[in-house]
Amino acid sequence: NVRVRFCPSPTGNPHVGLVRTALFNWAFARHNQGTMVFRIEDTDAARDSEESYNQLLDSLRWLGLDWDEGPETGGPHEPYRQSQRMDIYRDVAEKLLAGGYAYHCYCTVTELDERREAARAAGRPSGYDGHCRDLTEEQKAAYVREGREAIVRFRMPDEPITFTDLVRGELTFTPDNVPDYGIVRASGAPLYTLVNPVDDALMEITHVLRGEDLLSSTPRQIALYKALIELGVAKEIPAFGHLPYVMGEGNKKLSKRDPQASLNLYRERGFLPEGLLNYLSLLGWSFSADQDVFSIAEMVEKFDIADVNANPARFDLKKAEAINADHVRRLDVKAFTEACEPWLRAPHANWAPEDFDQAAWEAMAPYAQTRLTVLSDITANVDFLFLKEPVEDEASWQKAMKEGSDALLRTAREKLDAADWSSPESLKNAVLAAGEEHGLKLGKAQAPVRVAVTGRTVGLPLFESLEILGKERTLARVDAALA
Ligand code: GLU
Repeated sequence: NVRVRFCPSPTGNPHVGLVRTALFNWAFARHNQGTMVFRIEDTDAARDSEESYNQLLDSLRWLGLDWDEGPETGGPHEPYRQSQRMDIYRDVAEKLLAGGYAYHCYCTVTELDERREAARAAGRPSGYDGHCRDLTEEQKAAYVREGREAIVRFRMPDEPITFTDLVRGELTFTPDNVPDYGIVRASGAPLYTLVNPVDDALMEITHVLRGEDLLSSTPRQIALYKALIELGVAKEIPAFGHLPYVMGEGNKKLSKRDPQASLNLYRERGFLPEGLLNYLSLLGWSFSADQDVFSIAEMVEKFDIADVNANPARFDLKKAEAINADHVRRLDVKAFTEACEPWLRAPHANWAPEDFDQAAWEAMAPYAQTRLTVLSDITANVDFLFLKEPVEDEASWQKAMKEGSDALLRTAREKLDAADWSSPESLKNAVLAAGEEHGLKLGKAQAPVRVAVTGRTVGLPLFESLEILGKERTLARVDAALA
């Protein structure tokens, strides 16, 4: 039975790298009819926040990445917040100390720094040098009398550690590269290095899929796991797979502080969850050589961690938008109509709430659906329907209104007045005929009409727009432009 975990720390806003990790774990669990465990790694009281915790839950729900065990859902390994599991870690740390797998280290930060510098200067490995590994009881007592405080340090085996990474194949780490490391602070607070593998063990995680930035902690965790197995705390070492880095602008690693990395940004811009997940799944994985738009169900059906590529993936906003646009087209029109409404009814929309016209919106929606990239673009496309007067945009006005535009508008108004308002074709013919009288092709003739009625030079199909806005309001706007 496959058991994976998504175990973020609740700091800051969720970012795309985090979502990619959640997605790959979730898809792997779902593909294998396994279990998705959601655990909150909130042992750093100084950095963790309740707001960030709530955002994590809300984000996963919005994305549709559900979990089988975790906060609010519960499960056999409760609690799923590490801040509520401190007794467990204390107990395991004591067992590790008692079994000789870990030891108290009394070195001060200054001493560690000095010895590290000296080792570097001498060209020796600069990790922890094992100073406190085998202190006698007298030496320890002397340190305590000096008033020193001890951290708990894990004793790494003096032999290489080899494991087969699910993405990268066989990897070997030599002892020089993996020195003894701290697992409990002097204050008694357990560190990530302890709590993360302990919980993976207790929660019986079978596959650890996480970012490449955590690769260096894997040999340490494997060694700790071996100790936990000997102590009867763990059953089996999980398989590890490290997902490739995501590169942003200028081929630099996309940092979580990069504005482009913020999940909320994509949500606010009106990416569809399916569109965003589709795109994020391509960061290190591919569906097939000739298809990069697919549903999440299709992804789940095909997803295998063995197909993940170890090379860094490049975050490409344009591609993300293009994929999202495809997902917008795939919605049925009712779902699209509803999906846009939060933007149309938002308090920041520049018309009064009572001016929102549901019927006009529903009539306009099918034309918008084929053109939108992200849902937030909807307001600029349809605001002419709800505003008393079209937006005032000097630049658009300058662009569309040329010499002779007034004369053309006057003719167009006459012909529109006489047209059949139940057919966009008839409205088009009216503007076409007006253009002909002034020696203008349709494109040139409709530009001043569009700007007079919508305030913009580009937008949804014009004659459908006019029909939906209605004769009276359209003619009044043309009159206002001529006044
Ligand atoms: N809480 C850790 C993080 O957010 C989890 C790392 C892991 O997946 O092991 O970086």
